[in-house]
Amino acid sequence: MSVGMSLAMKAKQPKQKRCHRCDLYYPESLDACDHCSQLNDAQLVELKAQHQATLQDNSTFGKYLLFGAVVIGLLLLLSFL
Ligand SMILES: [Zn+2]
Repeated sequence: MSVGMSLAMKAKQPKQKRCHRCDLYYPESLDACDHCSQLNDAQLVELKAQHQATLQDNSTFGKYLLFGAVVIGLLLLLSFL
């Protein structure tokens, strides 16, 4: 998923609040976090670990995206020479 797409999806979503327990966002209309309210502490740790891994994947993907943009920029520059 591209950064622009995920931003667009976030903008479309209803108001969200951040869960103090798992740090994920959930709809304000819910009383309890739908990510962790069903989980015990051990499962919560696992969820957080997974979430961290996802964040790291995203930042790696962002670097590739940036690298791609730099390469395209260089190619454009070269085409003018
Ligand atoms: Zn939660």
